[in-house]
Amino acid sequence: MATKNAKESLTAAEIKEIKKHLEELKADAEKRLKDKKDMDMPEAEVGDPIDVAGQSLDKEILFELSGNSHNTIGQIEAALRKIEKGIYGRCELCRQPIPKKRIKALPFARYCVNCQHSSESSHH
Ligand SMILES: [Zn+2]
Repeated sequence: MATKNAKESLTAAEIKEIKKHLEELKADAEKRLKDKKDMDMPEAEVGDPIDVAGQSLDKEILFELSGNSHNTIGQIEAALRKIEKGIYGRCELCRQPIPKKRIKALPFARYCVNCQHSSESSHH
């Protein structure tokens, strides 16, 4: 019997990958927050040539989406807690699995696209 949701649910290996990615993002966000306090420069990527341009671009996009570093850290921590509890990858509102594509684009997403939209429109 084939599981219908297998395509959408994350494997243990994928969750491990995401967890690693989230931890990196968190460390980066914390660093950014500190850098921002120390100096008012938008680009503070000094002394780390190993950090690939593509990777930091990916991070830039995430920070754009989430608004600011401080908020991002909170969201990343929440996502990490969900991984610990084994409830990661599900929408907090409708409990439906969040599509992998969305998870990969926004690893700390709390809601599925539908709920994200309805929470945004009900904000007014
Ligand atoms: Zn939902």
